[in-house]
Amino acid sequence: MVMNNGGIRSLVATGLVLREQAPGGSKQRVTLLHVRDGRESQDTRTEHTRRQAEHVGLTRIVELKMEHLYGEGRLPDGGAMGTLAASQTLLAGLATARRMQAQRLVWPASLDGDAAAIAAMTERLMLTEQLAKLELGEQGTPSLETPLLEMTDPQVIELGVSMGMGKLWGLAWSCAGGGPQACGVCVGCRRRRQALEAGGIVEGEAPGKRSRRAG
Ligand SMILES: [Zn+2]
Repeated sequence: MVMNNGGIRSLVATGLVLREQAPGGSKQRVTLLHVRDGRESQDTRTEHTRRQAEHVGLTRIVELKMEHLYGEGRLPDGGAMGTLAASQTLLAGLATARRMQAQRLVWPASLDGDAAAIAAMTERLMLTEQLAKLELGEQGTPSLETPLLEMTDPQVIELGVSMGMGKLWGLAWSCAGGGPQACGVCVGCRRRRQALEAGGIVEGEAPGKRSRRAG
């Protein structure tokens, strides 16, 4: 089971898992897990997960409704949305993998090579897995895998290109905004542009057109 939120890392991780499958028909054993986390771009992300699945020939997508993660505005004290989002998502993912009898859960997170963030995330992954094992036992707990965790963003792109995804980035959505087109200025859009440009890939419209629309 592969978690897929419609983004670039989801696309690459899905390709990676499919590449591991023996040729000839075992594709149907791969299920995508899509968490609807309540972000503004939610519907667009769901649509891109579906497009990715269709492109690689996967028919099984499980959608989890977790709109409370980002969909309830700011905390009363002004704190950011998404409290414990990664931990909640991972636990729900493990529970779903268990329910679907999946042996493994692949989470496509990557932190652009930030060592401190990777260390913190690794600890969280271990603790989450341990928590699941308390209830499900060693045998009953799907293994939690994060193949992209230690890669930089350009390395993720490079991996995708090496798997023949060089022209598929349009299947992945990165913008955090709720508009029909990527805004070009949010963190998601900037991270995407920097990662792709490092690989010599430039996409999208001319900056002049973008700034005119923004104005
Ligand atoms: Zn954006």
